[in-house]
Amino acid sequence: IKPSFVQTWGRNNVQATLPKRKRFAHKGTFGKGLVIGGSDEMPGSVMMTARAALRSGAGLITIGTTRQNIPAIASYVPEATYKTVDEMDFLSDQYTSVAVGMGLGRTEKAFSLIEQVIRQVKSLLLLDADALYYLKQNLSLLKEREYPTVLTPHAGEMARLLGITTERLLLKPFTYSKAFAKEYNVHLVLKGPFTIITNPQGEQFVITNGNVGLAKGGSGDVLAGILLSFMMQGACLITSLCNGCWIHGASADHLIENGRYSKYDLLATDLMEGIGSVFHTFS
Ligand code: AMP
Ligand code: MG
Repeated sequence: IKPSFVQTWGRNNVQATLPKRKRFAHKGTFGKGLVIGGSDEMPGSVMMTARAALRSGAGLITIGTTRQNIPAIASYVPEATYKTVDEMDFLSDQYTSVAVGMGLGRTEKAFSLIEQVIRQVKSLLLLDADALYYLKQNLSLLKEREYPTVLTPHAGEMARLLGITTERLLLKPFTYSKAFAKEYNVHLVLKGPFTIITNPQGEQFVITNGNVGLAKGGSGDVLAGILLSFMMQGACLITSLCNGCWIHGASADHLIENGRYSKYDLLATDLMEGIGSVFHTFS
C-alpha cells in the first residue's frame, strides 16, 4: 500500500509550506472562492464545504445554490455571500478558485450547470461528488480546460470514472491514479484510509493520517472546503492539496486523541473545531 518511491506528506512538510498570515493582509489577500452545490433535497454538503473553507483561512466565500436553500445555509455560514444558481455568470464573475458538485443532485439541470462550470470557469476548479458522476460521460471536457482542474473522488467514484471495479482499483491505486492524472491533465485526490495525491506530471504523495471516525457522510464535503481554501491562498497546487488533506486528517485525529469525540460519534461538522486546534499547533 505504501511503496517507498511515493513520499508520505507529513507534519514537517505542512510546517514548511503552510501559507503565512501576514500582519498587513486583507481579505482579498486570501482569495475569492465560489462553492456551487446543494439542492432542495441535499442542503447540508455545500454548507459544510463553505464553512470548512472559511475555517481554513479563505478570504471570501460565495455560495451558489437554489433560492430555497439560501436561508437555511445562511444561518450556518453567515460569513458567506449568496447567489442563486440561475443568476450566476461564470464568464464575468471572477473567482480565485471554484468548487462544484456537493449535494447538487443528478438532474438535467444540475448536469447542465456542471457542464457550464467546467467549460467557462477561468480559474482553479475542484470537482467533487455529483460533478464526478457527470464527468463519467464527459471526460473529454477535462482536456479542453486551460486552467488547472482538481478531482476528489473516493474509491467508488474513481472506479466508476475508470470503468473498473473498486476491488480492481484498490489493487493498484497509485498506478491507476498516475495514468488518469496524466491522461486527463488533472490533479487527482483519491480519498480513502490513505489518500493519494497525483499531479498531471505524475508526481505522487500519500497522506496517512485521519481515522475511521471520518467514515461518515459529510467528511468529503469538509475536505473539499479545506482544499478550496488552500487553492485560493496560492502556492503550488499539489502542495496546497497535500496540506489540505493532511489538515483534514489531523483534525479528526486531534478531536479523538483529545477525547473530545470518539471514532463512533464524530460528525463531519465537528471537524470545524478540529481545524482550528490543528492550526494552533503550527507556529
Ligand atoms: P467522502 O467519501 O467523499 O465523504 O470522503 C470521505 C473522506 O473521509 C475522505 O477525505 C477520506 O479520506 C476520509 N476517510 C473515510 N474513511 C476513512 C478512514 N477509514 N480513515 C481515514 N480517513 C477516512
Ligand atoms: Mg463525497
